[in-house]
Amino acid sequence: MYKCQNCGNTFKFIGTVKEEGTAYIYQNMDNKNDIDSLTWAFLTRDNNWHSSHNITRCFYCNSDKVINIKI
Ligand SMILES: [Zn+2]
Repeated sequence: MYKCQNCGNTFKFIGTVKEEGTAYIYQNMDNKNDIDSLTWAFLTRDNNWHSSHNITRCFYCNSDKVINIKI
């Protein structure tokens, strides 16, 4: 679980994600008015799915002091 040391946010962060595997891909081109809604999504198809993510900043206060805490 990640937590921002500056503002205490544990919900939303900015970072990068890499995923690789077989998927069904859905698109929704009508969501242009809401920048935070999904424009596409992956649904994993099998157990052979690889993903990794890297948190770089807090979404709310833009601090890079985000730590990984154990629940
Ligand atoms: Zn923060």
